[in-house]
Formats: sequence, structure tokens, C-alpha cells
Amino acid sequence: MIRIEKQAWDTMVAHARECYPRECCGAMLGVEENGVRLVKAARPMRNAFEGAQEDTYQLDPAEQLAVEKEARAQSFSVLGIFHSHPDCDAYFSKRDLQNSCPWYSFVVLSIQKGEFHHANSFLPNFEQTEAKQEPLEY
Ligand SMILES: [Zn+2]
Repeated sequence: MIRIEKQAWDTMVAHARECYPRECCGAMLGVEENGVRLVKAARPMRNAFEGAQEDTYQLDPAEQLAVEKEARAQSFSVLGIFHSHPDCDAYFSKRDLQNSCPWYSFVVLSIQKGEFHHANSFLPNFEQTEAKQEPLEY
């Protein structure tokens, strides 16, 4: 399961609202203890997708490397990636699956009319064929 601390959660929701009606993305940093992923910090990232961002996000690989370093400097790991679905449910889309990697949790925030609505977390498999929903607390 994944548990997101309040400050990190507030950062995620604020970033998703700021980017609306475009998709936002970012990294979740923290520690893993007894099978629980505890998110202690959220790091907004730029959506590097060059087309319409209403239903797509893309991480910037250089920024991803920088975030990995920032995490290590704080003795954290990058536990996952979050992104938003503007005016859409927090499901894991086919494109999300294609762009996923199996060692991360993927939190999707549904932003309806500019306000946070609900969120889900997913754990993609190694084949990128399906993603199981993961218990999420925030
Ligand atoms: Zn998505």
C-alpha cells in the first residue's frame, strides 16, 4: 500500500489544480517500510509532452535524473509518479500502462472542473499489460 503524508499530498493536489485543464506530473519521494510506501515529499515536474496536454503527460528524462539525485540527497527513494486526469476518472489508461514501469506506484488524481475529486494508485506488471489497484491513503 501507499500512504501519502499531508504536505506531500497538498503539493500534488496544488500542482494538479495549477495545471488544469492540462495534465500534470511529478514524482513521489519517501521511504518503504514493512511493505508500506510512505510518501514524505512530492516533487512537481514539467509535462514534457509537446502536443495537446489535456490527456497526455510525458516526463522529462533529464528532470527525472535530477529528481533521483534530489531523493538520494534526502535519503529518500523515488517511490512513484503521479499525474492528473482533467475532467476524467482516476483510472489507468492504455497509454499510462505503455509509459509505466513496474517498480513504481502510479497515483492518478481526478480533477473535475479544476477541483480535486478522487485518486487511485496503480502497480503495473512487468509486461505492461495490466496494472493492479493499490490501497492508497492520503
Ligand atoms: Zn493517465
